[in-house]
Amino acid sequence: MNDKLPSESRNFDELPLSPGMLATLQQLGYRVMTPIQSASLPVALAGHDLIAQAKTGSGKTAAFALSLLTRLNPRRFAVQAMVLCPTRELAEQVTQEIRRLARSSDNIKILALCGGSIIRTQINSLEHGAHIVVGTPGRVMDHLERGTLDLAALNTLVLDEADRMLEMGFYEDIAFIAKRCPTDRQTLLFSATYPEGINRLASQFLRNPQQVKLLEQHQENQIRQRFYAVEDEQRFEAVVALLKHYRPVSALAFCNTKQQCRSLLEMLHARGIKALTLNGDLEQRERDQVLIQFANRSCSVLVATDVAARGLDIAQLEAVINVELTPDPEIHVHRIGRTGRADNEGWALSLCSQADRNHLIRISQLMQLTPEWHELSALQNPLEAVLVPPMVTLQILGGRKEKIRPADVLGALTNEAGLTRAEVGKITVTEMHTYVAVTHDKAYDTVRKLSAGRMKGKTVKVRAL
Ligand code: ADP
Ligand code: MG
Repeated sequence: MNDKLPSESRNFDELPLSPGMLATLQQLGYRVMTPIQSASLPVALAGHDLIAQAKTGSGKTAAFALSLLTRLNPRRFAVQAMVLCPTRELAEQVTQEIRRLARSSDNIKILALCGGSIIRTQINSLEHGAHIVVGTPGRVMDHLERGTLDLAALNTLVLDEADRMLEMGFYEDIAFIAKRCPTDRQTLLFSATYPEGINRLASQFLRNPQQVKLLEQHQENQIRQRFYAVEDEQRFEAVVALLKHYRPVSALAFCNTKQQCRSLLEMLHARGIKALTLNGDLEQRERDQVLIQFANRSCSVLVATDVAARGLDIAQLEAVINVELTPDPEIHVHRIGRTGRADNEGWALSLCSQADRNHLIRISQLMQLTPEWHELSALQNPLEAVLVPPMVTLQILGGRKEKIRPADVLGALTNEAGLTRAEVGKITVTEMHTYVAVTHDKAYDTVRKLSAGRMKGKTVKVRAL
C-alpha cells in the first residue's frame, strides 16, 4: 500500500484536463486540489483502478467525476460511466456535482437511477440516451433485469461510499452489477473507512488497483477531545450533563445501536431537549425533515448510528458526543471529524465505561493521543438551565410543485408577518413542502400571521415542527 501524504497544494492545471474543464473548476472556485484529489486524480486519469479512502467532505466526488468526464465521448450516445451510491440522497448529491462539473460541454446527459422515483420515467430517459448514470444498487439491478440499461459501452464503474454500501448489505447487488459490466472497464472505489469487506470487493472486482489513503489530519487545536469515565447506567444522564455544560447549538450524538438511539431520544425528550434521530426506518420525507431541522439550527441534538449519519455533511456542528465508543478506531476519527470544520472550534466528548477501555486503547494508538480525562462531577449543571435551539422550523404545505420559490416565502415573512431578515433562517423548498427557520421568539406569532394571509394567491397552511 502506498500512503500518500501530499505536502503542498497542487493546481488542477497540472492535470491533463481540457481547457473547458479547467475554466469550470475556476468558476466553481476550486482553486487547488484537495489532498484526496491530488493523490487520486493522476492515478485515475492514467486509467488505473483505484481504491481511495478519505473522510466525508474531502472532495471525493470531483476526484472520480473529473476522471470519468475526461474519458467520456459526448458524441457517443451510450452509458459510458456508472456511479453506484448507497442512498438516493447521496446519488442525487453526486448527480448534482457531476452536472456542475460537466457544464462546459452541454451535451452530456447525466441520469439518476434511484428507487422512490417512477421507473417508467427512468426507462424513457434511458431510451433517449444517457452518458452517465448514478444510481443505487437496487434500482440499477432492476433496470438490468428488465433489460432497460445497457452497459456494453461502459468504461468507468465507480463504487462511491463503498463502506456504507457494504454496511447496508449491498455486496451481492454490487457483485451482480459488476459482473454485467465489460471486463476491460476502469473501476474506482471510494470509501470513508476501510472495513474488512472492502478487500474482498476489491480483489473480486478491481484489477491491480492502486491504493491511496489519507489519514485524517485534523488541526489539533480545532477539535478539543475530552473523555469522561462513566458507568453504563449513567450514560444518558451524562449526555444531558454534557449538553447543559457545553451548550452546543448543534450536537451529533453517536450510539452504536438503533436501540440505544431510541432510548436516548426518549430520555432527551423527557428532559425537554429538542432532539431528533436518523435511522434507516425513516421514509425519505421524514429523513429530509430531520436533516432540514438540524441544519437550520432548530434542533439541538441529532442522535444517530454511524450507518445513519454517513455522508451527512453539516457545516456547523459545535460538538460530537460519543455516547458509546466505537470498536473501530477509524470510525472514531471519522465521527469526531464532523466537528471543528472550517475555522470553527468543536468539542469531541466521549463517554467511556470500563467495557469501552479496549476501544479507547485502539483509538489512542491510531490517533497517537493521550486521552484527556475530565470528571462528570466538574460539569456545571444548573438544574433549571434548559437548552433551547435558536430557531424553530415552520413547515408550509406546498413546494416546487406549486412553484414556490424561497423569495415568495421571504416576502410573506417580511411583509405579512413583519419579520426582519435577521429573524429568518434557512429556507428549503422540497417537492411538496417548504421549510423555513425563524427565530424562536417569533415562531408562534408567525404561524398565526401566515395562516391569516395568502401566498401565491392561496391561503397558507403552516405549522411549527
Ligand atoms: P466527499 O464525497 O469526500 O464527502 P464531496 O465530493 O461531497 O466530498 O465534496 C465536499 C465539498 O467540497 C463539496 O461542496 C464540493 O463542491 C467541495 N469541493 C470539492 N473539491 C473542491 C476543491 N478542489 N476546492 C474547493 N471545494 C471543493
Ligand atoms: Mg461522497
